[in-house]
Amino acid sequence: DSGLVVVGASHAGVQLAAAAREYGYPGPITLIGDEPDAPYQRPPLSKGFLAGKTSEPDLALRSDAFFAETGITLRPGTRAAAIDRAARRLHLADGTFLPYGHLALTTGARARPLPASFGEPPGGVLVLRDLADARRLREAAATARDVVVLGGGFIGLEVAAALASPAPDSPERRVTLAEGRPRLLARSASPELAEHVAARHRAAGVALHLGTAVDAIEQRDGRLAAVRLTDGTRLPADLLVVGIGVIPNTELAEAAGLACLDGIVVDRHARTEDPHILAAGDCTAHPSEFAGATIRLESIQNAQDQARTAAATIVGRAQPHIALPWFWSDQLGMKLQMAGLLDGTDRTVRREKPGGDGSDAKFSLWHFAGERLRAVETVNLPAEHMLSRRLLALADGPTPAQAADPGFDLRRLLK
Ligand code: FAD
Repeated sequence: DSGLVVVGASHAGVQLAAAAREYGYPGPITLIGDEPDAPYQRPPLSKGFLAGKTSEPDLALRSDAFFAETGITLRPGTRAAAIDRAARRLHLADGTFLPYGHLALTTGARARPLPASFGEPPGGVLVLRDLADARRLREAAATARDVVVLGGGFIGLEVAAALASPAPDSPERRVTLAEGRPRLLARSASPELAEHVAARHRAAGVALHLGTAVDAIEQRDGRLAAVRLTDGTRLPADLLVVGIGVIPNTELAEAAGLACLDGIVVDRHARTEDPHILAAGDCTAHPSEFAGATIRLESIQNAQDQARTAAATIVGRAQPHIALPWFWSDQLGMKLQMAGLLDGTDRTVRREKPGGDGSDAKFSLWHFAGERLRAVETVNLPAEHMLSRRLLALADGPTPAQAADPGFDLRRLLK
């Protein structure tokens, strides 16, 4: 066996390499990543790091000692260029190659740029996906007065939140967020939660323009000057952050002839159609037991759970990937947590916890498809989020009536 080669040194890749070793993989493990930095945590980039509360050393995903102790060869700044499946070789951009026994693709996703019809973006137009983006954004934000955020998904909202609450010694900024759809978080949260989030952003001074897309970008001397929206609004801007989703990095797999469908197609054991090649994380389209469909998820939970599944497959103790999807976001003092999937839900029950309003409001939204619990969103209720994950895994979870009854102790159902 020529060992395990993992392409993509981020949440899925690091977890996969670590789990393979933990499960007893005996051969060499090489983890390559095209970013120059050692593996780091992505979620804080739009939260504490952008707000200036988290520093770079705090972002490290694992220590140098971890890689040394586990015998995982980490090669940052190394890009995979092509897979030769017949010879089982991974060709690198520097012209060399690595032989492999197993190859794991954890290539993730990249930020979706503005459509090409807008032309070459001027200085001051940024995206946020990796640490290099985050450094650029933090630097630009330090002097920006008029910030426009494009996209009302989690990344756009977290960026707006971080920039709308400036550190005491930084300049006042005007933050505007434009979203093409009529509401925030249309892809990932319920209308009720989106409404609460919108109210908090407005209260924090973020101007929301919903149902309007960017029509044109005005520039002066190669720098961003203003953003014109389709509703006719002209927003003077010295910083535009584009948060309009991601594109999965499937090119390497596609060029090698592996099936791709908005993600590298894998089975419930994280295997591609090539028995020597697996994939995990944001780059995969995988069957979800919970959704009853093939889906692609963008979350730490999925990256880590699927990576463990792939590692188990590699060491020959296949365990199917049947994890419950969950996600979190921190913005404007709110801890938002979601478990399950909203697709197909037709009924929502709200549970309120007394005390607190504004950013410390505490409530949860229980979403059902008929009588069956399918998703739970919590605001500032981490213990209830953890409980909801256990309840969602039950065949006999709470009914809408039980969830709606504040006197009903939901923990009773776990016994
Ligand atoms: P990625 O993290 O995208 O890593 C893939 C890596 O592979 C990258 O380093 C890439 O450069 C590298 N690569 C790609 N192609 C090649 C190649 N050919 N050769 C070598 N290397 C290659 N999720 C949550 O659950 N909660 C959050 O609060 C949250 N916040 C987020 C905030 C931000 C700003 C961002 C950007 C994401 C956030 N996410 C959050 C999503 C989460 O970070 C992703 O789901 C997770 O990073 C996916 O991990 P991954 O390893 O699959 O892919």
